[in-house]
Amino acid sequence: MPVLHRPIDFMVALCSHGSFSRLRRALCAQPERACNREWDSGRLTNEYRMGFDVEERFGAPYLLMHRGDLRAAIASAVPDEIVHLDRRLVGLEQASSGVTLVFESGEPAQVDAAIGADGFHSTERDIILGPERPWFTGRVAYRTTFPASRLGDLKLDNNCKRWGPDRHIVIY
Ligand SMILES: Cc1cc2nc3c(=O)[nH]c(=O)nc-3n(C[C@H](O)[C@H](O)[C@H](O)COP(=O)(O)OP(=O)(O)OC[C@H]3O[C@@H](n4cnc5c(N)ncnc54)[C@H](O)[C@@H]3O)c2cc1C
Repeated sequence: MPVLHRPIDFMVALCSHGSFSRLRRALCAQPERACNREWDSGRLTNEYRMGFDVEERFGAPYLLMHRGDLRAAIASAVPDEIVHLDRRLVGLEQASSGVTLVFESGEPAQVDAAIGADGFHSTERDIILGPERPWFTGRVAYRTTFPASRLGDLKLDNNCKRWGPDRHIVIY
């Protein structure tokens, strides 16, 4: 299951929304525990409870969910007619009366405020702060998803990290 980790304040806000309660019941997994093991021996080095203890302590749960489901839940919080797709932002002009958004195609839009949420290669950030070059940490994360049935008789913990000398594997 591709999952998203989000800060607890995001989860508190999300869980207060009615449509998310439905998503949570239908499509989220809530693991009871998380654990850490040595990569080769499998020795348990640390284990902690994640289930309702987390929810009681922080006011929101730790959940595993598919990114597409999360996006759909967020999108359902606003009426369809205010969402405009297929508009690539290429320019942004700020004046005392508001902001003009300039798109690659189509009419510009006048808005009171613009919030840039256009990701890692953000055009809006480039416009406001100037272009920045990504900084490679030297760390790479490989990911894959497959049906649990392919594990056969192999028993793996749910929500567990296996730690090697300089890398680790996360299993959900
Ligand atoms: C392979 C991979 C696996 C990941 N796995 C996880 C995970 O398991 N858990 C986790 O928590 N995080 C994971 N992440 C990170 C997570 O996806 C990002 O942190 C998150 O998507 C960032 O959200 P965002 O809204 O800032 O940007 P994005 O999700 O990148 O969204 C930006 C949006 O802006 C749009 N956009 C960009 N430029 C323009 C423009 N000029 N005009 C109009 N629209 C524009 C894009 O089309 C996109 O829809 C993963 C990332 C990758 C690449």
